[in-house]
Parts: sequence; structure tokens; C-alpha cells
Amino acid sequence: MITTNYLIIGSGVAGLTFAIKIADCFPNKKVTIVTKSNADESNTKYAQGGIAIVTDETEDSYQKHIDDTLICGDGLCDVEVVKIVVTEGPKRLKELIAWGAKFDKTAKGNFDLGKEGGHSQNRVVHHKDQTGQEIERTILDQVHQKGNITVLDHHFALDLITEDNQCLGAFVLNQKTNEIITFQSDFTILATGGIGHLYGHTTNPIIATGDGIAMAFRANATIKDMEFIQFHPTALYDTSIGSKFLISEAVRGFGAYLRTKNGNRFMLDYDKRAELASRDIVSQSIDLELKKSGDECVYLDCTHLDLEAFMKHFPMIYERCKSIGVDITKDWIPVVPAQHYLCGGIVVDKNGKTAIDNLFACGECSRTGLHGANRLASNSLLEALVYSDKIYNYLVDTTLKKKDLNPILSDWKLGKKPKISSDYIVKIKTELQLLMRQNAGIVRYDSDLLKAKEKLMQWQDEVKTISKNNEICSELYELYNMITIGNLIVQQSIIRNENKGSFKKNN
Ligand SMILES: Cc1cc2nc3c(=O)[nH]c(=O)nc-3n(C[C@H](O)[C@H](O)[C@H](O)COP(=O)(O)OP(=O)(O)OC[C@H]3O[C@@H](n4cnc5c(N)ncnc54)[C@H](O)[C@@H]3O)c2cc1C
Repeated sequence: MITTNYLIIGSGVAGLTFAIKIADCFPNKKVTIVTKSNADESNTKYAQGGIAIVTDETEDSYQKHIDDTLICGDGLCDVEVVKIVVTEGPKRLKELIAWGAKFDKTAKGNFDLGKEGGHSQNRVVHHKDQTGQEIERTILDQVHQKGNITVLDHHFALDLITEDNQCLGAFVLNQKTNEIITFQSDFTILATGGIGHLYGHTTNPIIATGDGIAMAFRANATIKDMEFIQFHPTALYDTSIGSKFLISEAVRGFGAYLRTKNGNRFMLDYDKRAELASRDIVSQSIDLELKKSGDECVYLDCTHLDLEAFMKHFPMIYERCKSIGVDITKDWIPVVPAQHYLCGGIVVDKNGKTAIDNLFACGECSRTGLHGANRLASNSLLEALVYSDKIYNYLVDTTLKKKDLNPILSDWKLGKKPKISSDYIVKIKTELQLLMRQNAGIVRYDSDLLKAKEKLMQWQDEVKTISKNNEICSELYELYNMITIGNLIVQQSIIRNENKGSFKKNN
């Protein structure tokens, strides 16, 4: 058993920024981060566009950013939360800069602000098209400098330990030794990110399997808004299953056009903002165009843009296109929508507290009320920064309240059990991804959702039994978690009957 004061599950922007602050504030307390892959592997690392923050109040204002967020959220945002997150942005940006993160500036020394879909102003602070990498590098450096933070990579959190509605820690699998460790913690913070791999076609890296949300659900936390899934309109098209390279929204902000194979600039037919309509509208429009034409992808046309400026702003995108034989000066970039972001998740209050005592959540696995039915581009890094700070501020003033419980936690019951074949896991996972794409994708139908529900319930029972009777491995647990998340998405999609934001159901 390992005891720690703060157990943080996940090493993206949400988990790491909380760790830095709490470790600084309490140098004598133990902060432990467990993370299931390499420490830097996270959705955070792949963020391209940047962070939406009002830095120039001559052109922009908090009110404009608030309004844009509310419009995008389609009437379902928590207005108070939106105000808090938007107005705290500049302070969180200053912290990142003080830790060493670099953001692009203009010749005059102001932030070089990008524009993305749904934003009425240029307000996206960025580091070229590698903002996430710059942030992850900076905060991991900071974490490694703190003597009271331990980072345990390749440690997969299996389940929370709860009793009488309070969280006492978690069971964690050391993926290198196959040992299951019992962590006893005063406070546990879930910062496990998104769910992309449930859909197979996604911009998320393979760590995004919804583990934290599934764990919280099993522990009886409240999970909400799972039907609101954002599909990014423009992932680079290829025929393989798995993570897709993102062609940032900022490329459309920079002036690129979306065209069908025949050259039709179709977004003009759907929305007066054309390519800069919000993501749900662009994704749904592409989905419709593809269903009409039977084509596999649409195209982003950058041929009319200033190449030198493009290469300066988007060097990674330029190189990636070149590597697959797309010369953006002459060729259109083939793109398709892919799962990108989950708006819902573990319900937290304005301090990041879940419904379970001593359990907190922040970042993409949480549901704060900021996004409502749809996330405004580049609001998610901002949300993670603001809510990890909220949890930090709350815990600075909070002493542990433990109910009268037996403090001795029992270890995970191990025993000699057979190993499940990896072929089985791969087979069910592939079928699950196809089911989610076909039955719970960009546009949904009740009949498909009901069929999906039946299949998911069947898999849920099957995999639960297999988990009990076989040796625990992270792949099996990820599958179990993904099925749980699939169930939550499908069931919450069946209940919702009004199309809102990223949710579209036709019957
Ligand atoms: C390609 C791409 C581009 C994006 N661009 C932008 C952008 O420009 N602006 C913006 O605001 N947002 C962007 N986003 C979204 C944004 O990056 C994420 O929402 C945000 O980084 C989430 O941070 P997080 O800390 O919550 O989770 P993550 O950064 O995903 O970190 C989750 C961590 O949890 C760990 N973990 C998960 N499960 C377990 C487990 N069972 N046990 C142990 N550890 C576990 C993971 O290994 C990882 O370390 C983008 C996302 C992608 C994929």
C-alpha cells in the first residue's frame, strides 16, 4: 500500500497544473501522479490551435468571449461558470508564462492571436501549431523540479476505493510489474481526459478511453451531458482506424475553404459564417455532403493563401501534408470529421468537487457546465487551467474530513487466474468502435441507439464476468471502461429529444 496526501490520476494540463500548485503550497505533503502511458502522453500534448483568452481589450472583451461561448453552447451553458472561466483566463496564462511557456508574439510585441470557428474575435493565444506540446513540456519540467511530487508512469488506475460516499484512494496496476497497488489518499483528483478511442476515428491519442469517467460512474458519481460529443470537422483523411492528424480550425480561420471533390464551396449553403461556423455545424454539413455524394472525404483548399505566412503559422501541418504527398500550394487537403472532444463527463461544482467526498475532477473528464451542448474552440485548455486552480484553492483551505471509517484498506483480491486472449479484446474493441460510429455518431436515430443499447448491455455483462475471472490487464479494463462510456452516451442520447449544439438526432 502507498499512502499519499494527493493522488492525481492523469498527467495532462489539468492534473499537472494542480500538482505544481499544491506541491508548492505544501512542501511537506506528498503529491503522487499516476499516469497510464509515458508521462507526456495526453490529449494536451496534441493541442494545436491554442487557448482562448481575452488579452486585448481594445478589440475584444470578456463579454464577447462569454457571448461566443454561450452561443456555441446553444442555451445549455451554466452562465456563472462561463463568466468565471472567461474572466480568469489572463491570470492562468500569466502562470503558464511564469513557468516558462512561450506564446507567439507579433512584431509589436503583442500576442499573435488566432481566430477559430465560433469566435467573433481573434483571441486564441498559441505557440505556432504546437501549443499543447509547449504547455505539456513546460509543466512537466516544473513537476520534475518539485521534490514532493512523485510521477509514476505506466501505472493504470483501475478503480476508485470508496466507502460511505467518500473516496479513500484507488487501485492502480503497475503495467511493468503487473502488480496491483492500493493507494490510500486524502484527496483524489481525476484528470484522465477524453474518450476518443471509443469511436476509432478520432483526433485523440490512444490514452483517451474514458477511464476516469467510467471509474467515477462505478463509484456512483454523477455523469452528465455524455450525448454532447464534438466531432472535429477536419481531421486528415486516411483509410486506417486510429488516431487521425488534426488540421486545426485555425487553418480555416486563416482563410482556407472547404470544397467537395467537384470544387463546390458548400459551407456557403449551410451558414452565413461559412467555414467559420461552429464545429457542430461544419461537421454536420460535411456529414450531409458525404452522405449525398457517397464520397469518403471533402477537401480544404489553401491554394489561395500566403504560403510563407502559412508555413510560419502552421509548420507541423505543412510538413505532415507534404509527407503524404499533399503540396498545399497546389493540392487540396483531404479531410473528414473525427471524434475530438467530450463536452460532458463527471459533474463537478464550482470548486471541482464531485458528488463523492474527497474526490475531485478537472479537465476533459469533468462536466463543469462551461460547454453546454457544444464546446467553443480552444475553451478546453482554458477550462482545465481554471478548474485545476479552483480545486487547488479549495484544498488550500480544506482539512480532510474523514467519516469514522476503518482506515485499513483491503488490497485488490488477486489469485491465480487465466489470461484473456488479446484477440478477444481487439475483436470486441473493433466491433464497439464501429457500433459507436454507425449508431451514435454525428447524426443519430433512436432505432440505431436502441440497437446499440442492447449490444452494449450484452458486452457489459460479458466483459464484467471476464474481468472477474481473468488476470487483470489494462487492455481489458480499457475495453470495460469504453463499453461503460458507450452505454452512457447511448442512454443519454436516447433520453434527449431536442437537437442542441453538437447533438443531432433525426427520427
Ligand atoms: C489533436 C487535438 C487538438 C486539440 N486542440 C486544442 C486546442 O487548440 N485548444 C484547446 O483548448 N483544446 C484543444 N484540444 C483539447 C484539449 O487538448 C484537451 O481537452 C485537454 O488537453 C485535456 O486535458 P486533460 O488534462 O483533461 O486530459 P489529457 O491531456 O488527455 O490527459 C489525460 C491523462 O490521463 C491519463 N490517464 C487516462 N486514463 C488513465 C488511467 N486509467 N490511469 C492512469 N492515467 C490515465 C492519460 O494517460 C493522460 O496522461 C485538442 C485535443 C486534441 C486531441
